[in-house]
Amino acid sequence: MALKLTDYRTPVFVDWCPGCGNFGILSALQMALVDLQLPPSKVAIFSGIGCHAKLPHFVNAYGVHTLHGRTLPFAVGAKLANPDLEVIAVTGDGDGLGIGAGHFVNTGRRNIDMTVLIHDNGVYGLTKGQASPTLKLGLRTKSLPKPNINEGINPVAIALAAGYTFIARSYAYDVRHLKEIIKKGIQHHGLAVVIIQQPCPTYNDINTKEWYGGEDRVDPATGKPVPRLYKLEEIGYDGTVRNSEEAFSKMVAALTKAQEWGDKIPIGVFYQNELVPTYEERISKRIPTYLENPPAKQAIGDPSGRPITSVEKMLEELKVIG
Ligand code: SF4
Ligand code: MG
Repeated sequence: MALKLTDYRTPVFVDWCPGCGNFGILSALQMALVDLQLPPSKVAIFSGIGCHAKLPHFVNAYGVHTLHGRTLPFAVGAKLANPDLEVIAVTGDGDGLGIGAGHFVNTGRRNIDMTVLIHDNGVYGLTKGQASPTLKLGLRTKSLPKPNINEGINPVAIALAAGYTFIARSYAYDVRHLKEIIKKGIQHHGLAVVIIQQPCPTYNDINTKEWYGGEDRVDPATGKPVPRLYKLEEIGYDGTVRNSEEAFSKMVAALTKAQEWGDKIPIGVFYQNELVPTYEERISKRIPTYLENPPAKQAIGDPSGRPITSVEKMLEELKVIG
């Protein structure tokens, strides 16, 4: 029987603030899982600490609400132990690009076949709206006593430099676009990151739904707002790397697009490269039985419950010879 949206819901009350962009992200993820017909028993969702981190509570799948900034190590560990799982790591701009920035970069190097979603609202919403690493220089959101003294970082550029092989951006209130991008990220062969512009109506009174929609700048000819967001796919942009010779030029194109912010903000797929071997493929070359017999399928005890793992053997394998 086909899986339905209700199969991915839980009875847990969704307690984000009214109008929060997180509602759109939750819906888009659930819709993507329905479209892909991924059984809840095959999906594991990890989160860090922050408003985003409640998401696994609301999706009927395996879920782990981990520690501040540590979403990715937990998610990577689960994926490596059980490569059959569809692993989705959710994080925020504060959680994943502040305290978790080292993990964000080093996960990129590995190109593990999983998906990272960044809920980017420019603030630390859960702790009352301090400036996050993505808030631009000089902005003063309503919780800040003075304008932001730091420049905001560019997650697309960092992901490119770190080695993510699928890099996209979408918008929390464009649920259909976000759903399609999340599906592409999940289907990508390698490590995908989707940066989601997520209005926080409670603490970010600058990058609001109205601001993204351009309601502060009306076209005099049409009398209509001029939206800031535009879709890369609608201008013929193509970030797919089809042979290794074009990888560099596609990275440069993605980086150039990633610089756009303010008057025009691109959403869509900036870069996709499925030619890079995944971590699972690399480890299978060293351990040929890895995919058929990954750690999650291995017995850790005999029938009486006595451990059968051998620490001595593991230490022997890890020994540095010099
Ligand atoms: Fe959403 Fe902001 Fe409220 Fe957090 S504080 S739930 S991000 S609106
Ligand atoms: Mg945030």
